[in-house]
Amino acid sequence: MRAIVVGAGSIGGCVALNLAEQGFSVALVDAQDPGDGLSAHGFGWVNAVDNGSDAYFALTAESLPAHERLAARTDGEPWFFRRGNLHWADSAEGARRLAGTAAGYRARDYPVEEYDVERALSELQPGLALDDVHGPLYHYPADAHVISDRFVAAVHARCRREGVEIRTGDRVTGLLGTDPVRGVVLASGERIRADVVITCAGRGTQAILAHVGAGVPLVEPGDPGTLTMGLLVRTSPVPVRVERVLHAPELSVRPHSGGRLVLHCHDVDHDLEPGDLDRAEQGRLAATRVLDRLGTVLPGAGDGVEVESAYVGVRPMPADGLSVLGWVPGAGALYVVVTHSGLTLAPLLGELVAREVGGAPSELAAGFRPERFTARLP
Ligand SMILES: Cc1cc2nc3c(=O)[nH]c(=O)nc-3n(C[C@H](O)[C@H](O)[C@H](O)COP(=O)(O)OP(=O)(O)OC[C@H]3O[C@@H](n4cnc5c(N)ncnc54)[C@H](O)[C@@H]3O)c2cc1C
Repeated sequence: MRAIVVGAGSIGGCVALNLAEQGFSVALVDAQDPGDGLSAHGFGWVNAVDNGSDAYFALTAESLPAHERLAARTDGEPWFFRRGNLHWADSAEGARRLAGTAAGYRARDYPVEEYDVERALSELQPGLALDDVHGPLYHYPADAHVISDRFVAAVHARCRREGVEIRTGDRVTGLLGTDPVRGVVLASGERIRADVVITCAGRGTQAILAHVGAGVPLVEPGDPGTLTMGLLVRTSPVPVRVERVLHAPELSVRPHSGGRLVLHCHDVDHDLEPGDLDRAEQGRLAATRVLDRLGTVLPGAGDGVEVESAYVGVRPMPADGLSVLGWVPGAGALYVVVTHSGLTLAPLLGELVAREVGGAPSELAAGFRPERFTARLP
């Protein structure tokens, strides 16, 4: 069986790898160099997500062991770290919110530990500025993080070893056939035939599905009440060792390679505008705002540290906030995967989608079919 996977980000890479391991002949195509994409720049917090959906919690919780299985199959520098995640608040309101979140996770039997300031400083992260902490610090020991660019590169390296043909810099501009779909047309004019096409194109999903008259609603930048755009800031090496994901009240921190950090601020994301996607300078200015906060969270860590990269990404967020996984209605042999939390979910989705494409439907995927949107169309 011949498969084409469109999109070589975290999800497409993992889907292609698992298909190849199952004996498929696989072509993985991407319009750009995947090192330039969202997955490679991602924040990379890997965790079970409690957003009110039991099915999404189960999917994301199951992703943690899937990362371990995948990490055991890749070579090179390690990219997956199960070292936990620390949250704290600096106001009574923030403390109430964190307590509510912790209660939700405990109700699902997901481990949550409470630390006082002294113990957090001595056991989890020395040097934090914790004078204004309200309530306990919450540590989620089962949470993890990935070094996102290493993760994507390691999956691609393993794909190559499994014989996956990786083509980058050539956009899919059309599909061959509609029902069934029998391949893709590339911007270069080349046509590649296959028995099945799996689209893992992130924000490019709509354009692919439009070729067969289908669609999955994604939240768009500028939609009221939603946060789609996000700024991810990579620092130069910092003079302080950070082991785990930190969620300070106004700054999130993730350890990166070579002593660097990846920084993210939700409130800065809210100030981004759709036009900023094309304005590198705008991203740089916002990145300086983000970097300035590092010294307030980890005094000493910001000294002499610079912004190495500032990446404005758009979350590939289906309209109901949940993943979309399944065969596209009305377009035989075309399978769609698009989701937020993609760095968390990619290794599991790789396994699960490859099994579904091979003919074994997954219980875990059953709650995420694209029909939930198409069924509502008039
Ligand atoms: C600010 C921010 C913070 C985030 N934090 C986290 C987090 O902590 N944990 C987490 O799990 N997730 C997080 N996410 C979400 C996560 O980054 C994404 O869900 C994930 O990267 C999506 O992976 P993907 O492979 O689907 O998409 P992408 O990485 O975007 O890959 C899709 C690929 O498809 C290619 N493509 C698109 N159209 C075409 C076409 N027509 N032809 C050929 N190729 C095409 C693109 O070039 C791209 O390389 C965050 C996102 C943002 C913006």
